[in-house]
This record gives sequence, C-alpha cells and structure tokens, in this order.
Amino acid sequence: MRPKDFLSKAQLAELSSCIQDAEHQTSGEIRIHIDRKCTRDAREQAIKTFHLLGTRKTAARNGVLIYVACDSHKFAIIGDKGINEVVPPNFWKDVCLMLETEFKRGAFAEGLEEAVRMTGEKLKAFFPYLSDDKDELPNEVSIGKDEESDEK
Ligand code: CA
Ligand code: CA
Repeated sequence: MRPKDFLSKAQLAELSSCIQDAEHQTSGEIRIHIDRKCTRDAREQAIKTFHLLGTRKTAARNGVLIYVACDSHKFAIIGDKGINEVVPPNFWKDVCLMLETEFKRGAFAEGLEEAVRMTGEKLKAFFPYLSDDKDELPNEVSIGKDEESDEK
C-alpha cells in the first residue's frame, strides 16, 4: 500500500487541522510521518525520521513524532527528551494499543486522528498551552521522500 492509498488528500488535510487543534491544548508539537516501507525496527526508523524532520527543534524539547510505515504495517511514537524526562514509563502505551486496533480494522485516518487527540490530552498535563505559544513545527503530515519520487 502506498501512502496516497493509505490516506486521501482530504484525510491528510483533516489530520493537519487535528494537529493544530491538539496543539491548542499543549505547548508540545505533534508531527506525523508516513513512509511506505520500513525494513528495520519501526522504533529505530522512527528515531532516525524524528531527527531528519528536525523534531528536536523545539524550545522545551517536547516534540512528538507518530511514525507509520503503511505498507509494512509498522508504527512507533517517539517523544523528545523533554517529554521522556517527565512522563511515566509506558506513557504512549494506550495510544499505541488504540492505533493497533484501529489499523487492524483499516481505520487509518480515524486511528491517527484519535492518536493526535490523545497525544494532545496527555501532553497537556505536563506541557500546558502557553498564551505566547509558537507553532514551532509544521502541522502537515510528511510523506517519505522515496514515495514522492516514485510518483513522478
Ligand atoms: Ca506550539
Ligand atoms: Ca505544530
């Protein structure tokens, strides 16, 4: 499955506004990246992607990446060190379990939207929204580069 079959343009736009809404609850920054394939451990690839996307470039180091390799049926959620330092272990576990269930029934967009909402809710307690909040990272879903060239 290609990313464009995984999520429609309308769903991508919807997800982006979902991220925007969630970021009105927290100073944390939420990103989603979709790759087609991931041949290694999803977490390793997610960490690599986290850095490639510049997800570390937040003042409070509170960026989160929801990484999905749609064709490989893999995903991982990575929080930056500002988050990892303060949240309990297994902080992402319920989000991951929910995503797994939704992906299994083919509800990709719904699952990701819920993941964004849950992430915003969870981060709110540790990183409340500030009145002078900046949108530090883009809210658009990013798609793996291989996939873009593939479509030409
Ligand atoms: Ca922000
Ligand atoms: Ca943002």
